[in-house]
Amino acid sequence: MTRILRNSAGYILHKISTTRPPDGDPARVSCRVCGWRRRAASKAEARALRDRHAQRPREWPTFHVGLVTGTGLGTNNHAAAIGVSDDLPTCAWALAGNRGAARTIHAPQFLADEAVAAIMTTGIDVAQAVLDMRQLAKLCDAGTSLVVIAAASTSSGPGYDIAGVGDYGLYHCQGGDVVPLMSSLQPNTPTGDEEASTFATGMRITRLRAPLDRERLVVMSGSVARAVTAEERAALITGVRNPQTCAHDLFQAGVRAGMQQNAALLVLDPLSTE
Ligand SMILES: [Zn+2]
Repeated sequence: MTRILRNSAGYILHKISTTRPPDGDPARVSCRVCGWRRRAASKAEARALRDRHAQRPREWPTFHVGLVTGTGLGTNNHAAAIGVSDDLPTCAWALAGNRGAARTIHAPQFLADEAVAAIMTTGIDVAQAVLDMRQLAKLCDAGTSLVVIAAASTSSGPGYDIAGVGDYGLYHCQGGDVVPLMSSLQPNTPTGDEEASTFATGMRITRLRAPLDRERLVVMSGSVARAVTAEERAALITGVRNPQTCAHDLFQAGVRAGMQQNAALLVLDPLSTE
């Protein structure tokens, strides 16, 4: 059974359904629009988790999320993770990529999941999360890219905290334009708020705070960011309304342009919850 939570204008904020698995597997509960998902030991627990997500306060930030991860293009691996709290007005996302050998192919999913879990459970700073995960990644492979995003509210108003290291592109819609916020491809992107920290380890982590207005934020692996032209990127980010379709179309544009590596893309659409 599916439960739907709408804002006062009737727009869908959350759409939650439980999946009946084959015998023996845990039940899954997931929200098709914000990306929230849980595993449940029983049908009763699945129903309880579903009902709890449906009671998430409407005033808390809500996002419709598109996520695409490409596979089958070689041994490089990229992954993304989504965190939505039912206890706190917090959402977090991470995208990880790995240029390493096939033996580390599962590392990016682990790192993305761990980064999101650290943000959600300990409220750790995004730059510290990147630093911690990158140190972890170094144990198996130095070629790991990682971007961590947390939606947070502070005295200066609601905003995104973002930190990244490695090979990625990050873009924000601003009044109909698509603005590169932070990117390994354009290290001198003038954002005003960007701050690069070189930690004692010598690692350069870029971080910034961006306004959490109602416009779309897109983060993508460097492989797809390089493959897609600025014109095509802007046309798809501003022209494709559904975030999942947008992420898919950007990925396919990269494939058509001859992208030789795997890629992950996250498209975040903040919603008005009033
Ligand atoms: Zn949801």
